[in-house]
Amino acid sequence: MTSVYEAKQQIVEIGRRVWTKGWVAANDGNISFKVSDNEFVCTPTGVSKGFMEVGDLLVVDRHARKISGGPLKPSSEIKMHFYVYDQRPDVNAVVHAHPPTSTGFAVAGLSLDACALPEVVALMGQIPLADYGLPSTDEIPKSIDPYIKTNSAVLLANHGALAWGKDLMQAYYRMETMEHFANILLTAVQLGKVNLFTDKQVEALEGLRARFGLSDPFTGCNRNPTGLPAETGKVRDIYDS
Ligand SMILES: [Zn+2]
Repeated sequence: MTSVYEAKQQIVEIGRRVWTKGWVAANDGNISFKVSDNEFVCTPTGVSKGFMEVGDLLVVDRHARKISGGPLKPSSEIKMHFYVYDQRPDVNAVVHAHPPTSTGFAVAGLSLDACALPEVVALMGQIPLADYGLPSTDEIPKSIDPYIKTNSAVLLANHGALAWGKDLMQAYYRMETMEHFANILLTAVQLGKVNLFTDKQVEALEGLRARFGLSDPFTGCNRNPTGLPAETGKVRDIYDS
């Protein structure tokens, strides 16, 4: 079991990674870990995620009241983290950032729903796009509501992305896989062709989930309906300009 101290150390490390990768600017982003139903470790508001120290992190209760930790207040976006924990008792960690390519899809109004890479199909399925919600308000929890029980990450329209998992590293790696996928998909779109996996290929990949012991909720991605290769310049209706 992860201790509060270990969770704080992991959050510091994940903060350093998301900042180094350029997934947050200034004081953007927030990370949390569920210790128990009424005890959560979270990042404070107003700090760069690249330069946090263990002593900056907070332990708060389910109402975001500080129990212990640094001098700053908890992030106002902790509301959306609580919303995920409430809906998913199997989830113990949530990571929020603004990775540029994934967020570019979210600004363009596009979900990451193409069945195009094995690890994404097998590990994450599709990454849907939630409606825009005003940051720090209840609009965001409301906007992600349809996707929490069926997915492991979501794009936030005109804002960023949210990923969750059984532990901090799983939530972080889901964000990393999503952004890597978004970069590759964008490159394929720019090259003018996106060859999607066929039904048979997707079923084989989804079959690996059982072998890897993955039983998380999962929404499938969009497949190639004809089995024919994509034509140049005919990416898919939604990606064609
Ligand atoms: Zn944000």
